[in-house]
Amino acid sequence: MRKLVSLLVIIVFLVACNNKPKENTSIQLSEEKPEYALVIHGGAGNVTPERIGPEKEKEYRAKLQEALDLGIDLLKKDSSAVAVVEAVIHVLENSPLFNAGKGAVFNSQGQNEMDASIMEGKTLNAGAVASVSRIKNPISAARLVLDKSPHVLLVREGAIQFAKENGMEMVDSNYFFTQERWESLQKLQGKVEKYGTVGCVALDRQGNIAAGTSTGGMTNKKYGRVGDSPIIGAGTYANNATCGVSCTGHGEFFMRYNVAYDVSARMKYAHQSLNEAAEGIINELALIKGSGGLIALDGKGNICMPFNTNGMFRGFAKSTGENKVLVFKDK
Ligand code: ASP
Repeated sequence: MRKLVSLLVIIVFLVACNNKPKENTSIQLSEEKPEYALVIHGGAGNVTPERIGPEKEKEYRAKLQEALDLGIDLLKKDSSAVAVVEAVIHVLENSPLFNAGKGAVFNSQGQNEMDASIMEGKTLNAGAVASVSRIKNPISAARLVLDKSPHVLLVREGAIQFAKENGMEMVDSNYFFTQERWESLQKLQGKVEKYGTVGCVALDRQGNIAAGTSTGGMTNKKYGRVGDSPIIGAGTYANNATCGVSCTGHGEFFMRYNVAYDVSARMKYAHQSLNEAAEGIINELALIKGSGGLIALDGKGNICMPFNTNGMFRGFAKSTGENKVLVFKDK
């Protein structure tokens, strides 16, 4: 009898241990499953209050808020996740604040070479463009590849020609000139730096997830260098069965570690939660000095935004009313 009681005590203890809530640092203000949800980023890096200053910080927060508000409004009106991702990224690409579209950084030859990708979690269809110039909104060119071509990735003149043929808005290269980015190139002298890529992941009312990323890459990158942002599985990934992910950071690491897909794979094969999966890979990258972060969202509307840098421009909103923009470690 005593043995039986001890056995029961051990079993109860083991069950209790197993049910212990897993460590969860994702922002989960409400337990309620949202009808729709949205998460965005404007790049990770050496983002500190001292480096940015209060005025610029205000501008960043306002632009991120504008993008979030547009996205949540579209989701409320039943827009598809992929349309929302494109529209939200437009807002960020059209701002000189971020390293994408208008604010794209310069490569070592003083040119802008932009990369973008977008993916649908329902069909696993994806579209991407790499090393493009003159296309005002590279994320729309990526969407065009997704919708109107049998391919996933088009590069350089081929991508530009395809965008032109399909009536995409083209601009003169001067459109992408910003004094600040030009000065950053002059200052770097041989080094490369990353900062300010943009991304968005949305969950729509139909339960579909989409993810997109757009970037100018890294300041002073070699002519012809392509980063993780247009590579499906590295910088962007979406699968309704697991999650949607958009990454930002030192692209070479994100490519080598297949970071966006890795989050999904950890969920699918190791049965990790979104949070465990996303934080796990970002912590692993930190160990090998792969700096950056990501935003991710699963089918239940859980959101997480881990990064291993000083800060990451980011924000999220849900149908349940939560709506927040963050820049530094905890605010
Ligand atoms: N991941 C981008 C790249 O390597 C840069 C960034 O996110 O800041 O091209």
